[in-house]
Amino acid sequence: MTTTPAIRIEALEKRYAGVRGEPGKHALKGVSFDVPQGQIFGLLGPNGAGKSTLINILAGLVVKTGGRASIWGFDIDEHPRNAKRSIGIVPQEIVFDPFFTPYEVLENQAGFYGIPARDRRSAALLEAVRLADKRDAYARTLSGGMKRRLLIAKAMVHSPPILVLDEPTAGVDVDLRRQLWELVTALNRDGVTVVLTTHYLEEAEALCDHIAIINHGELITSKPTRELVEMAREKIVRVSLDREVSTLPPHDAFRRVETPQPRMLEVTYDRDVATAGQVLAIIQQAGYGIEDVTTREADLEDVFVQLTQDSAPRDA
Ligand code: ADP
Ligand code: MG
Repeated sequence: MTTTPAIRIEALEKRYAGVRGEPGKHALKGVSFDVPQGQIFGLLGPNGAGKSTLINILAGLVVKTGGRASIWGFDIDEHPRNAKRSIGIVPQEIVFDPFFTPYEVLENQAGFYGIPARDRRSAALLEAVRLADKRDAYARTLSGGMKRRLLIAKAMVHSPPILVLDEPTAGVDVDLRRQLWELVTALNRDGVTVVLTTHYLEEAEALCDHIAIINHGELITSKPTRELVEMAREKIVRVSLDREVSTLPPHDAFRRVETPQPRMLEVTYDRDVATAGQVLAIIQQAGYGIEDVTTREADLEDVFVQLTQDSAPRDA
């Protein structure tokens, strides 16, 4: 049995209009991937990669210039209303009318979606984001963290099966970050598919079941987090030598050999094929004296750096 993906993106393109003869930014260059139901899905990429453009297309805030997208099986062009009803989006910026209370913010949003009074659950949502005691406070008196939690409640007013958060933890402190992680995890346990964008790798690694990486508007990879971290089967040994390095004999276990300084070698090797001792022996056999050694394990960060370096931009 195949289930409909929560989100399906096919050859998605966005070319922003240029100004005064300047060519427009080609922000998405044919991106395709599926977000399976029930997951916490991370959309990762450096600043300017195209993450918000993609999210804003799903939100109906940006008009795509090519490709297709469907949300909960509803094509965003053919069934825009159903598509919109299936998704709740938390934008990166916090915008509220300062004179509404949290309860009113949620009631207004429910009104916007045409939810009849008896079906509203503003109080329960405030409870869920731990703002029940702030129910009647003015939005302007809430802390940054409370505002973010209120935005999540607002995105969930129409009970969408999918919640999308654009950079929920950019520039927030450690405590709030933990609170947001807990909230996201709890919603996911209750069956909500969560998509979040981030440029924090450790956040993606800790929170997400699956990670898609985009860079310069192109999809680089989309894999279960476990598999992506598994790709980090490399270790790195850095040695200071007694003289300048010219060549090192090739070896099956070596993935990369770099010389960050004239008398320094950095060898990235496959830890399944060789040990650090063997790498050092090879260097010594090549006639170098070793003065100092450090080693480290590759992590998601290294995988990310390598994958994004391999995908040089094709145009502006
Ligand atoms: P991310 O969210 O990954 O940081 P964005 O989707 O915001 O990336 O931006 C992708 C690229 O598109 C960037 O080069 C950005 O400058 C450009 N861009 C974003 N919004 C607009 C816009 N409204 N008009 C023109 N270019 C834009
Ligand atoms: Mg962004």
